Amino acid sequence: MSNFAIIGSGPMGLMAALELLRKGHQVDIYERDDRIGGMSADFDFDGLRIERYYHFICKTDYPLFKLLDEMQLSDRLHWTDTKMGYYYQGKLHKWGTPFALLGFPHLGLVDKVRYALHVMHTKGIKDWAALDRVNAREWITRWIGPKAYKVMWEKAFALKFFEYQNDLSASWIGTRIKRVALSRRNIFNESMGYLEGGSAVLLERMAEEVRRLGGNLHLGQPIDEITSASGKVTGIRTPTSHTPYDVVVSTAPIQYVPGLVPGLPPAFSRQVAAIENIPVACVILKLTHPVSENFWMNISDDRIAIPGLIEYSNLNPGKGAGEHIVYAPYYMPKTHPKWQWTNQQLIDEVISYLPMINPAFKPEWIRASHCHRYEYAQTICPPGFQEMLPPMTTQLSGFYMADTAYYYPEDRSINESIAVGVRLAETASTQAP
Ligand SMILES: Cc1cc2nc3c(=O)[nH]c(=O)nc-3n(C[C@H](O)[C@H](O)[C@H](O)COP(=O)(O)OP(=O)(O)OC[C@H]3O[C@@H](n4cnc5c(N)ncnc54)[C@H](O)[C@@H]3O)c2cc1C
Repeated sequence: MSNFAIIGSGPMGLMAALELLRKGHQVDIYERDDRIGGMSADFDFDGLRIERYYHFICKTDYPLFKLLDEMQLSDRLHWTDTKMGYYYQGKLHKWGTPFALLGFPHLGLVDKVRYALHVMHTKGIKDWAALDRVNAREWITRWIGPKAYKVMWEKAFALKFFEYQNDLSASWIGTRIKRVALSRRNIFNESMGYLEGGSAVLLERMAEEVRRLGGNLHLGQPIDEITSASGKVTGIRTPTSHTPYDVVVSTAPIQYVPGLVPGLPPAFSRQVAAIENIPVACVILKLTHPVSENFWMNISDDRIAIPGLIEYSNLNPGKGAGEHIVYAPYYMPKTHPKWQWTNQQLIDEVISYLPMINPAFKPEWIRASHCHRYEYAQTICPPGFQEMLPPMTTQLSGFYMADTAYYYPEDRSINESIAVGVRLAETASTQAP
């Protein structure tokens, strides 16, 4: 049995730790933050414990359901018939049902049929390999036509991916369409899930289980270096000490890896460094009134620089009346001028959008505001990404790695971190020296 250090206590790090402990290994988790969770961590928002970033669950999140069952938390999973909206050039439209599509005035009938056929086709795709090398923009345009692409997708791609918008893998975009399209009670009702108490309920139970099985969790302890000698891991260095380990498993965003692991061959580090990932700055507001009836609102409006609003309290009612939670994500490369803005500037800009979306909005509705940033929030997956992805088993003996890029072609989710965490632990455990 080996002595493992795991970097990161997000869902992937916790899941990998659980699996390794179950196989009888010794495991220590090191977390840079002062809390567990990574992108799924929560914070005290003016007396409300809530995730820094919004989280919803889909009907197809099977590894998550299995884990909830194992952790005896299935009764904390609830489903809501959620509504979608599309704020298009100054007007909020209903979205997400056949009637909404038919009533949307900015597409002709033929385009609407083509749009619906594309979603139906994508829902049925099982093998994504053929779309790995296909350009997403070209794929969607082939199905729905250039006009509908402009109306339905162009702004979303521009505000989520910026300079990468025209160079994305179709399979990566397709799995997002499929996941949401399959999360329905029937053709008229989208159905999204949430955990009562938030993601923290699951993450804390996982951390408890890690400790019960003899693992250790070191919070506020960044790993600065993975040390090695003669092509083999020797241990980890934190700001205060060096500790020997047989194996190190990283679940931190892989962009940190070249700097953390000087013992990796330069060609391998270059392969890692070639993978792009952009940050997020996510504004969260607590309001006395809802902005809309929607959980998810896509936005395409020349005056608005965010791709959507996520009105979380329309999924998870929480305390109910008088406490409405809205998230507004700015995904942007660090080269974007707004990345230099203060959090308050971003918050003020989001607040300036609210009267456009709901003319009844008043500044007195705002009870609290916050903005969190995550440096590597969104991997960018261009066509052919499967081949770009370095293997989990690196060329340094005893060092294994994965992050949200390893969900590919799936999009980011706690569900995928659980699935990849299991795979990573299996790989590291069977191949460990
Ligand atoms: C805006 C936004 C919206 C999202 N919406 C959803 C959603 O609706 N549904 C859903 O399921 N998922 C959603 N996600 C995704 C979900 O949060 C992630 O997929 C998940 O948290 C990834 O977990 P992870 O453990 O793989 O990685 P991470 O969460 O990135 O965890 C990595 C951990 O490593 C730590 N770390 C990094 N470097 C070091 C170091 N040197 N030493 C020690 N520790 C280190 C970090 O502090 C972090 O805790 C969303 C994410 C964002 C940002």
